[in-house]
Amino acid sequence: MDQYTMLIDGERRIGDRFFGVRNPATEEVAGESPECTRRQLEEAIVAADRAFPGWARDDEARRDALRRAAAALTDAVDQIGSLLTSETGKPLRRAAEEVYGVAHWLTYYADLELPEEIIRPSESTTIEVRRRPMGVVSAIAPWNYPLVLSSWKFAPALRAGNTVVLKPSPFTPLATLLVGDVLADIFPPGVLNVVSGNDVLGSWMTSHPLVRKVSFTGSIDTGKAVATSAAADLKRVTLELGGNDAAIVLDDADVVTMSGAIFAAAFQNSGQVCSAIKRLFVPRAKCDEMVEALAFRAKEAVVGDPLDDATEFGPVSNEPQYRRVLGLITDALERGATAAAGGTALEGPGYFVAPTILRDVHDGAPVVDEEQFGPVLPVLAYDDLEEALTRANGTMYGLGGSVWSSDIERAASVAVRLECGTAWVNRHLGLVPFAPFGGVKWSGIGVENGIRGLEGFSDLQVLHRPT
Ligand code: NAD
Repeated sequence: MDQYTMLIDGERRIGDRFFGVRNPATEEVAGESPECTRRQLEEAIVAADRAFPGWARDDEARRDALRRAAAALTDAVDQIGSLLTSETGKPLRRAAEEVYGVAHWLTYYADLELPEEIIRPSESTTIEVRRRPMGVVSAIAPWNYPLVLSSWKFAPALRAGNTVVLKPSPFTPLATLLVGDVLADIFPPGVLNVVSGNDVLGSWMTSHPLVRKVSFTGSIDTGKAVATSAAADLKRVTLELGGNDAAIVLDDADVVTMSGAIFAAAFQNSGQVCSAIKRLFVPRAKCDEMVEALAFRAKEAVVGDPLDDATEFGPVSNEPQYRRVLGLITDALERGATAAAGGTALEGPGYFVAPTILRDVHDGAPVVDEEQFGPVLPVLAYDDLEEALTRANGTMYGLGGSVWSSDIERAASVAVRLECGTAWVNRHLGLVPFAPFGGVKWSGIGVENGIRGLEGFSDLQVLHRPT
């Protein structure tokens, strides 16, 4: 069984013990991850703190290191991608895309030109609005996109001049540990540390006095715990949390044409995307047509072995999530919903669920009100657009949303009324490094990506001086 190493102060390290990481497509152990001890975390954070002043000093050296990191990961794409597939279950080409995504984010931040902000209140005074790095950043990632979501943190954090301690989810630590291994000689010791362990390791990372910023992606409940822990000494936080995105189809939409993009945005990564479509609102008169079009795609979808080139969708990524998704489907069926496609697990081994389209399902059912985070989409009939908007916004989630119509202006005027951080017209998903991304209400605090994402890893300093 392959065992992987952490990266602490520039050295490859194991813990006192290892824990097995399961392949969700086979239920076999894919590899062994070290369990970071509290003493080792201390070493990582102290090393990051020690490395900070030197790393913060030279912007060109940082850009150069980020570019070299992107090149090294691109060279190792096959090795990292196949390990990522073995722990997440995502198809191989999707895993490779994720590795390329990390390289893309690193390159974007290496190349980003930061605007200078100068204010001249008078002839004799110049005010420079500057940015200073914060220090040690704790970066904590979830299991659905372990690599690219980590890079949304470490690429801007490092570029801004901070040092980083990164922790992947205990369900999917292996590819992240391999990334640390590939990058071990690119960054000076202590600049990037990668540790692995269970949830308690995360809580140590959010309460350590040397950490000045916590960047967290995960569930809302954990996000609240992270915010509480960070508040004790006013660490800055960025929280990217769960979503329950609504898509509203307007009465003028060409349902059959749009169903392909809607299906893709609901079922990408087997529905395990924070900003996937999770509730689909359709005018009652168009509901049958939409359900039929989506059910056709769901039945045609190739679900299976992620190592097979033909596979479009792999399993749900871990057993607790598999049980939760099946529980939500069963509950909806018991409440009177109909599965127009799917509705059941697929024969094992592996945590496979047939892509499921639910109709006759109503607000109040957990599959509608809560984030399902799996391959099941409830189709919800509405009679009046104001009613659809009220229902779409009637939640504490506020990550993304979309409106679908043949009239783009009309759709945009509805989209801006959605209470969410990102709103799309005639699409949903498709995240890019240069656009900020974040949630409102319980879906998060702060944003990642773009210049604003970089700013989240720095403090403002305003320098007043004689001209
Ligand atoms: P999770 O909250 O269970 O775990 C996320 C990470 O937090 C893991 O590394 C975990 O070990 C760690 N952790 C757990 N308890 C902790 C604590 N008390 N202190 C510090 N760290 C702790 O989430 P998950 O199940 O891994 O991920 C799925 C969730 O993430 C979904 O809700 C999804 O919507 C959300 N998500 C959000 C975004 C976004 O950008 N908004 C992106 C992807 C996923």
